[in-house]
Amino acid sequence: MNTIPFLDLVTPHEELKEELCGVFRAALRGASFIGGPMVEEFEREFAQYCDSQYCVGVANGTDALRFALIASGIKPGDIVITVPNTFIATAEAISQAGAQPDFVDVEERTYNMDPERLQDYLENDCYFDTATGKTFHRKTRRPVTAIVPVHLYGQMAAMDDILELAKDYNLMVVEDACQAHGAEYFSAKENRWKKAGSMGKAAAFSFYPGKNLGACGEAGAVTTSDHDVAQKIRMLRDHGQAQKYYHDMEGYNGRLDAIQAGFLRIKLRHLAAWNEARRESARRYGQLLAAADAAIGLPYEPTWAKPVYHLYVIRLQNRELVQKRLAEAGIGTGIHYPIPLHQQKAYRGLYYKEGDFPVVETVAKEILSLPMYPGLLHTQQFEIAEKVLNLVSVIPAHEQGQRAAAAFAD
Ligand SMILES: *Cc1c(COP(=O)(O)O)cnc(C)c1O
Repeated sequence: MNTIPFLDLVTPHEELKEELCGVFRAALRGASFIGGPMVEEFEREFAQYCDSQYCVGVANGTDALRFALIASGIKPGDIVITVPNTFIATAEAISQAGAQPDFVDVEERTYNMDPERLQDYLENDCYFDTATGKTFHRKTRRPVTAIVPVHLYGQMAAMDDILELAKDYNLMVVEDACQAHGAEYFSAKENRWKKAGSMGKAAAFSFYPGKNLGACGEAGAVTTSDHDVAQKIRMLRDHGQAQKYYHDMEGYNGRLDAIQAGFLRIKLRHLAAWNEARRESARRYGQLLAAADAAIGLPYEPTWAKPVYHLYVIRLQNRELVQKRLAEAGIGTGIHYPIPLHQQKAYRGLYYKEGDFPVVETVAKEILSLPMYPGLLHTQQFEIAEKVLNLVSVIPAHEQGQRAAAAFAD
């Protein structure tokens, strides 16, 4: 059977094999495995790539988020606002920094944080105390101190609106850029394109192998243009020491391996071209699937977004059937994510209930991630699209009519 994987990690590593092995050989020669010049060079290069002043390499994306929050000043007992449509690491990092995650719903078309829901939350559930210049939650009286917008699927959240609200309520913004290496946002406020990782107080990146920029193992980084935040993260990742065995605070073991930094330096040189290839594949999917756009929700690109398509996510009424049939045809797909965070068992203790976030609850049942990676071929995309088009047309005709009418209505 002709199989199309959801993600092909083998080919790019085969192509870069000699260079990657060179990194390993160099590391063996000096037995320099953790930290050191290879890490520092990668940090310089990635900071530059993200239009950010500093980059601090860490062990993974979850550490990056947790350290970014702690270094930005999140305290135990705080409330940090994020979205329920994300990987659990976003909320874990908030909890593990000692804070409580509070969710606001996402926008129906971009699947990212809806600034209107954020505004509702801040206006109705919180109050701004002019005496202290701080925001508090009305019911619990806890301080609300930060927002973590997630640039999901490789597309940035509506950052101008989010930053504006953050300013009004004196909140910090820490970007979860774990899926958005190289994504851009046109800031109307600044009248220029901005890179993911350059807009918040700090931003977290993951270099998990399947990300747009992936290590050959675990790795992550924080970008920031705040000198003190960068310095604090350097300490947090290394047991709170600024100097060997002089611990100014308790920290973590969250350093970046030199070998991974070396691999990342090599791959970073290809990232722009890989992202462009992903965008090209997204355009092609768009053309191929346009015929059924009444039945398939295609990714929505606002004019202010330049996404890097970590994932290509479509929306379908008969998602389960389509996924099953594609799997039978040897085509890999994914669901990102099937259960919104507020409905996960891990967050029972937050006492959310069904219906609290209707948009994410609906889209979670309908989204499907199609194969997306830089080496995806035209012929493969053609085959995938053909199958998807056939499968959506098995929807009863009257439903298709209703949906077409609904599409015309807005
Ligand atoms: C991958 C990912 C993370 C976590 O990164 P790890 O390197 O796996 O710890 C956090 N947030 C989002 C949105 C991610 O996609």
